[in-house]
Amino acid sequence: MHHFAYRNGSLFAEEVALSRIAAEVGTPVYVYSSATIERHYRLYEAAMKSAAPAGKAHVFYAMKANGNLGVLKTLAALGAGADTVSEGEIRKALAAGFPPEKIVFSGVGKSESELRFAIQAGIYQVNIETERELDLLSRIGAELGKRQEAVFRVNPDIGAGGHAKITTGSSENKFGVSFEEVGRLYARAANMSGVRIMGLALHIGSQIRETASFEAAYTKMVALVGSLRGEGHRVDRLDLGGGLGIPYEMPKDFDHGPELIDAYAAMVGRVTRGLDVELGFEPGRMIVGNAGVLLTRVLHLNPRPTKQFLVVDAAMNDLVRPAMYEAYHEIWPVTEADADAATVAYDVVGPICESGDTFTSGRVLPTLKPDDLIAFMTAGAYGASMSSTYNQRLLVAEVLVKGAEYAVTRPRQSYEELLGTDRAPPWLA
Ligand SMILES: *Cc1c(COP(=O)(O)O)cnc(C)c1O
Repeated sequence: MHHFAYRNGSLFAEEVALSRIAAEVGTPVYVYSSATIERHYRLYEAAMKSAAPAGKAHVFYAMKANGNLGVLKTLAALGAGADTVSEGEIRKALAAGFPPEKIVFSGVGKSESELRFAIQAGIYQVNIETERELDLLSRIGAELGKRQEAVFRVNPDIGAGGHAKITTGSSENKFGVSFEEVGRLYARAANMSGVRIMGLALHIGSQIRETASFEAAYTKMVALVGSLRGEGHRVDRLDLGGGLGIPYEMPKDFDHGPELIDAYAAMVGRVTRGLDVELGFEPGRMIVGNAGVLLTRVLHLNPRPTKQFLVVDAAMNDLVRPAMYEAYHEIWPVTEADADAATVAYDVVGPICESGDTFTSGRVLPTLKPDDLIAFMTAGAYGASMSSTYNQRLLVAEVLVKGAEYAVTRPRQSYEELLGTDRAPPWLA
């Protein structure tokens, strides 16, 4: 379920008309619904707590999905933790009010200075991906006189996900240490003074819309916990990653029920029953995906013999998912079309000088004209967080709605900001 719906023929985010936001903030603009974020987080957290052995579950929101300050503060206020993948994300999580003891640091290429920052900040857990990272972490921890809690991210050799570019759990991918190595690394770490190994983590991919691949990976993990304990190692934590998928196809009457969350939680409960561990989860897309839309305005119609191009003011630099992963987004006109309205098959494209700047081809939509507003639905995850200034376009604006109120939580970048970061080399100044 989400909180974007038509009222008297006009698309609203909760109680705010999207046409009003477009008029006051301009387009393109991302609009997020607090109620949707809150609902998803609560459902997810409750389901995981009920599934976890002895109810011990921690939810760390994967903030790379959407790092908007308003979104982060909304989740921090609900008691969520944060899953981060860079020093910048740790800093932003702290600025948004996530306590350090609820921050996890994941990622395949953490630098020495990032690890130092994380340890000094006093974060909950580092997810170690390589032996070298283990050595580095312990050395820095020892230097700082701290023993950083950490887990090993293992690679279960089970890849899954909606697209090859977002599959992470196969042995072909760059993520995690192999099952064969974990015991040896555990044994080495036992003698290290700057790190304390608390357990294991995995993350197999993103946009996974069935539970079988998770189940296969988690079953392997539970067996690994048993064998490590058999060798005398402590495994108190099991971080099961994120990756739960969401529907991007969205008929207007579709009820985004929590079915997949429930099926996933039931499976987690079954696989981990009786295991004495605390579970961790790192959902990103599931929490924010359909809590956001990208609102854009039609600039031009460009009819060709075989195609009808609809040029909008958003481009691949604002929402790269279609160009990068062939991702599908529903398109809803902000003014609802009559049921018997004429339709046209449009190629919806942005202004960027690349044919790849195509959101969709041959999409049947009600007839549109310049200045009409449309919304790319389900754009809350990996939308604004992947935006750029390609073509010297301004970084897109972001708005958070709560009930009848809205706030601009990231103003559109200004041209002064865009141009002001560059420096001429002295020989050309
Ligand atoms: C990206 C990522 C996540 C979140 O994935 P979603 O598909 O958005 O749930 C969680 N954990 C790690 C380590 C990640 O890299």
